[in-house]
Amino acid sequence: MTKLHIVISRCLGFANCRYDGELVEPVALESVQELAREFAGEIEFVPICPELELGLGCPRPRICVVRSTDGALRLVQPATGRDLTVGMKQFCAAFLGSLGKVLGFILKRGSPSCGPRDVKQFYASDLEQHVDRDGVGFFAQAVGERFSGVPVTDEVELMDCGARGRFLQRVRRSLIHDSSCRNPKPGYNGSSPDRNKQSLKVKP
Ligand code: SF4
Repeated sequence: MTKLHIVISRCLGFANCRYDGELVEPVALESVQELAREFAGEIEFVPICPELELGLGCPRPRICVVRSTDGALRLVQPATGRDLTVGMKQFCAAFLGSLGKVLGFILKRGSPSCGPRDVKQFYASDLEQHVDRDGVGFFAQAVGERFSGVPVTDEVELMDCGARGRFLQRVRRSLIHDSSCRNPKPGYNGSSPDRNKQSLKVKP
């Protein structure tokens, strides 16, 4: 059976790689685990953690999206003063460009890197006060630009049966209508080729 190749935020069940080294809320992880159980043998995940790929380590000081007065967005690490904007964009271009056919993305909601929605944006003048939380993470933004039309969801949305079904329906439709995806090229051949060989820690 041809597998459905889905790129997924690595912290969603593959590794404790969040900035604080903590697990994603178990209830949110269950939505991914449930999907994996339901489609065991059919889905092949390609896990990736953009922040680890930038060499930020774990645990690490948090990073955030900062909006300047001219509206420009930057990715910064307030505790160190590092501006990660260019590095993240370069990583996104390299990683996403290395992928073959991707049928879908499951990304961590709210993350300044991965978040497809609900990402806080902060004022450059006051990093304690956020402008709004309707933003998109830098990696998710790059995904939307390079993979326009490919379904993107997050671990919270997957908790809803209807949303999960619609996501998979779109993934399958893409598989059926694009014969090139029969020989996908998953995985990222960057500096650590073994990084994607981990398995989802699915509860029995
Ligand atoms: S949300 Fe993305 S960048 Fe943050 S820990 Fe998870 S995989 Fe890494």
